[in-house]
Amino acid sequence: MGNHPLVDPLYQTAKFRFERFSDIESTLSGQLQGFFYSRISNPTVRSLEMLLAKLQGRDDGIALASGVAALNTLFLSVLSPGDEVIVFVQSYKPTRTFVRGLLARFGIKYRVLSLTDPASLESELKSRPARLVLFESPSNPMLRIANIERLVSDAKAAGAITALDNTFAGFHNHGQFEIDVFIHSLSKFAGGHGDAIGGAIIANKPLIDTIRATHFDLGACMDPHSAYLFLRGMKTYTLRFRQQCENARKVAAWLEKNPSVERVLYPGLPSHPEHGLAKKQMKDFGSVIAFDVKGDRSQMIRFLEELKLISVTASLGSTDSLIAPSHLFYAGDLTEDERQTSGISPTTVRLAIGIEHPDDLIADLEQALQNHSV
Ligand SMILES: *Cc1c(COP(=O)(O)O)cnc(C)c1O
Repeated sequence: MGNHPLVDPLYQTAKFRFERFSDIESTLSGQLQGFFYSRISNPTVRSLEMLLAKLQGRDDGIALASGVAALNTLFLSVLSPGDEVIVFVQSYKPTRTFVRGLLARFGIKYRVLSLTDPASLESELKSRPARLVLFESPSNPMLRIANIERLVSDAKAAGAITALDNTFAGFHNHGQFEIDVFIHSLSKFAGGHGDAIGGAIIANKPLIDTIRATHFDLGACMDPHSAYLFLRGMKTYTLRFRQQCENARKVAAWLEKNPSVERVLYPGLPSHPEHGLAKKQMKDFGSVIAFDVKGDRSQMIRFLEELKLISVTASLGSTDSLIAPSHLFYAGDLTEDERQTSGISPTTVRLAIGIEHPDDLIADLEQALQNHSV
């Protein structure tokens, strides 16, 4: 009958057999579409790649073993010794440590700028060109918003490749901008249940072909079983994301009024410094909130330990709400100047909202905030 399954089957196989020698030659040369080894490609992984690329509005994608592998594969694909890369204080810590550590060791130069000071990027690019500008919006863990139109136009004018780590915003956001490459940690919203690790690089050809060649050299491939879990997760991506954003909006507004909370950063709150930009650039405001517990570090720790429904751990985009001490998890590599620029204080926490009932989340936060100073 030649009909198709509703759900992409899991090809849990490392190899694909060849019947004819000529098929090997035509597959290797690309004349024949086919699979032969799952480090290079696998039908389940390929289905995921095409789905994610379509959602993000680009030609093609590569699924990899983790979000960090996606970042590092991008860096190693487009940078050579002597090139410069620009990253930001307001970004995921392992991004900065890779740039400052391994890339620097191989002669790749870097600058770490402030995302919320677009004039400094413009003048830095005028004084010296860069090969790659990698940024986040909203940024991890403090939810700052980049002026994407300005950033992309300044970077392009200087001949730099622009890459957005779009993990916090999701696949349905930011596709309208002339961004060259999107990076995602699939471990967050794509999987959605906190049970799989993966990453993606999404771009148009021919850039994606260049990156894929390096990906084959590095070998940080996605396992087919993980791809199956991500395809399954993506079936409810929109539903989950919508509920998480709705919950986050309610929780952020409630936190802002709570006398035991010092400050709240959520792009959907009118008090957020880039609320106007977020409103213009995004279809929604995401599910992550940063806030400071009133008091000192020991009171923040007490608050975390009092929580019952919300789990203390890293990560985000799960069905379950998760909370992390930002200073301990995400600021270890920052100089004192950079830490101040980042806005992370010893009492800052990052709350990643799940799909629970918002009243239950608020009740848990309320009892923990009441007890934190007793
Ligand atoms: C989690 C995260 C990553 C890394 O992803 P892994 O899948 O954990 O390797 C990269 N960038 C951002 C913004 C993240 O939040």
